[in-house]
Amino acid sequence: MFNKKNYLSYYKKMYLKNRNARIKKKFIFLFIFVMFTSVFVLLSFFVKTEEMYTMDLSETENVVNQAVSLKKKKLRTDFTNWNKSCDWNLTLVNNVNEMPSYFCPKLKQYGDVEVDERIFISLNEMLQEAAKNNIRLWASSGFRSEERQKQLFDRDFLENLKQNKNKEDAYNLSLKKISLPGRSEHSTGLAVDFNAVGEEFCATKEYAWLVENSANYGFILRYPKDKEEITGRAFEPAHFRYVGEDSAQVIKMKNLCLEEYISSLMK
Ligand SMILES: [Zn+2]
Repeated sequence: MFNKKNYLSYYKKMYLKNRNARIKKKFIFLFIFVMFTSVFVLLSFFVKTEEMYTMDLSETENVVNQAVSLKKKKLRTDFTNWNKSCDWNLTLVNNVNEMPSYFCPKLKQYGDVEVDERIFISLNEMLQEAAKNNIRLWASSGFRSEERQKQLFDRDFLENLKQNKNKEDAYNLSLKKISLPGRSEHSTGLAVDFNAVGEEFCATKEYAWLVENSANYGFILRYPKDKEEITGRAFEPAHFRYVGEDSAQVIKMKNLCLEEYISSLMK
């Protein structure tokens, strides 16, 4: 007999059964959704890490490949055309290559000296890291005007003359130590001398630290001992030059001087 009471209890039972089924369905759907999302997120994370790793690897490979091909190129001495089209940080100024007239350093005060503002952050980071490691470094010379450069050259030249050198010898001796006005890297604002010292600097832990770490901040030892013939300059352990991190790493890795490195980049 189908009475109202039975019908209600039947209806209630069926309703609850359906509702439970609906909730169960919802949970299953939610579970599948969460699983899919998690798998997707995890996969994209791994792919990204892999991509980053591949990128790092190929960047390192590029640096190594670039370094390997360097030795095959011949050494150049005239960098006039190079300077016209190169990046600012790779401008080459030496005893025979004048500072290009269009190269205008944008100067910014750093301690007691002025440097090109584009190297300011790297220089500052390098010296702060040095200080953290108990390495005492300070910039004793940065940008120099042509007048200042002339004063330095003339003073050294006169000093050599006083030591009974003839004019030519005195001049050549000065040329090995000090650049002529207009041919000094210090006119670019990209070179820095540290700690106001001479060759004795090479025996210090400060020098050792710079040789080891300066490339990480884009700086190179500009006048190395074993490259005097090429740079035309005597070993100057306290003179560092900003070239940018990538170039600095290659130069360090392959033990090159700037003249050799730029030669290898020229067509
Ligand atoms: Zn210098």
